Amino acid sequence: MVQMETIVSLAKRRGFIFPSSEIYGGIGGFWDFGPLGVELKNNVKRAWWRAVVQLRDDVVGLDSAIVMNPQVWEASGHVAGFTDPMVDCKQCKRRFRADQIEGERCPECSGELTEARQFNLMFKTFVGPVEEAAAQTYLRPETAQGIFVNFAAVQQSMRLKLPFGIAQIGKAFRNEMTPGHFIFRSREFEQMEMEYFVRPGMDEDWHRHWLDVRMGWYRTLGLSQERIRLRQQEPGELAHYAKDTFDIEYLFPQGWAELEGIANRRDFDLRQHSQFSGKDLSYFDEETQQHILPYVIEPSAGADRATLAFLLDAYTEEVVRKEKRVVLKLHRDLAPIKAAILPLLRNRPELVDMARHLAVILRRRFMVMYDDTASIGRLYRRQDEIGTPFCITVDVDSLADQQVTIRDRDSMEQVRIPVAEVPDWLGGKLIPAPFQI
Ligand SMILES: [Zn+2]
Repeated sequence: MVQMETIVSLAKRRGFIFPSSEIYGGIGGFWDFGPLGVELKNNVKRAWWRAVVQLRDDVVGLDSAIVMNPQVWEASGHVAGFTDPMVDCKQCKRRFRADQIEGERCPECSGELTEARQFNLMFKTFVGPVEEAAAQTYLRPETAQGIFVNFAAVQQSMRLKLPFGIAQIGKAFRNEMTPGHFIFRSREFEQMEMEYFVRPGMDEDWHRHWLDVRMGWYRTLGLSQERIRLRQQEPGELAHYAKDTFDIEYLFPQGWAELEGIANRRDFDLRQHSQFSGKDLSYFDEETQQHILPYVIEPSAGADRATLAFLLDAYTEEVVRKEKRVVLKLHRDLAPIKAAILPLLRNRPELVDMARHLAVILRRRFMVMYDDTASIGRLYRRQDEIGTPFCITVDVDSLADQQVTIRDRDSMEQVRIPVAEVPDWLGGKLIPAPFQI
């Protein structure tokens, strides 16, 4: 399997992901997505939204604020419970997670350690001009709570009947003590979360449904069968709100690790927010003529982790005519650039004009790139390395026969078709993946 350093290096060299504020020495646990990275991550989010919202008639979307009333985090349990036990070294002043060190001395200098203290992972901030306790709140550590506090507003405005879901993609922030493994664990990250509200008693069936749907999503987008698995959390691992949780895990270079958690949160959150806000968040069930608090199944995925897994999984080294070929075999839905338009000779103005004109036409429908800055062999290698599914070459014959050559990234096979047919030909190849509904 590919080493993480290889992907980190490719990501930087080819404009996918840079360390944040690097000219100042960077800042740990924060990353910037470059021109190709933003396309890739947008495509990951788009594929999620399409599968979870657009293709279903029982899920709607939401975009709630990052900063919320601080009482939200009292009710959710994050103020009291979203903590890691930390110890400090009295000698070198380094801080460690108590559950990650062995023995009773500092792993760096063997100095004496303090007793473990609870350290909250939420970033504090202040709203308004006065930095006083009353104005203090937090950057959200998860997007889920924005969904729960809008439960009644969404349900009533859209006249939704159980079972139904509310989906949201957005930034979340956690002051992790040990960020690492590239963008796997960052302090600022993006979540793709959906809360699916069901009648109590139907929760276990719907939990199984969402395990199948979400595993299918990763497989449809090309993650290798043998590098993805479903693991049920042990009772001791479960979060305070969870009745049962499964993790979708990917075999990252550091080992099996969580891509997505799919939890049965029971009615914990709606019950807490009803109590803390004093607002009735129950649902009137017309079937039974009773007010009930729905149970919730929550598939919670990380957009950055998924992006990393797709990058790692796509990375392929091949030997072609005794030369190494690096190719990102990204699913067509995820590839940052769908097609590259390449004139075979850049010193022939008619060729360049024809290629540029084709790029203008294609740009209206697809993310494409025009490139004439190197020889055709080198241009192909560049596009392979960023995962572009199709390279379209305009050559000398194209001027006479109005045909172009299209090369497939994976098979490297070429077809020659009339230039006027290229937009529809490409459209046929780039139909989005059919996800299970
Ligand atoms: Zn120390």
